[in-house]
Amino acid sequence: MGNTLTTCVYCGCGCGLYLQERAGRITGASPSLHHPVSRGNLCVKGWHIHEFIHSSERLTQPLIRKDGVLTPTTWDEALSFTAQELGRIRDQTAGKGIGVLSSAKCTNEENYLLQKFTRAVLKTNNIDHCARL
Ligand code: SF4
Repeated sequence: MGNTLTTCVYCGCGCGLYLQERAGRITGASPSLHHPVSRGNLCVKGWHIHEFIHSSERLTQPLIRKDGVLTPTTWDEALSFTAQELGRIRDQTAGKGIGVLSSAKCTNEENYLLQKFTRAVLKTNNIDHCARL
């Protein structure tokens, strides 16, 4: 049983919070009063961040739709399939068939790499960020 100081992963604000643990399970979250970003505050997502950790609905492995059914697969197969399909769609639609949404959960560097990948590899300017959804 104890509290662990960590950073909320839901968005780029990076609020500080404590995760409460009991008997090997995360049971709650509370704000860090002295965190320089959040200063004792959390939004509703931060207060409930512990709830997804043990959710039975959480995806824990990649899935590929086969014959209309989402089927568990390996990361190697999922990544190969994704690369193959993105290449096929890019070539068939001259990049117009692909749109990419980046995430506030990513670092600046990851967002930079994603726009580079989108423009240089996928050959499209169809890239945006979840902050504008
Ligand atoms: S508590 Fe809310 S505002 Fe703070 S990082 Fe988490 S999601 Fe973002």
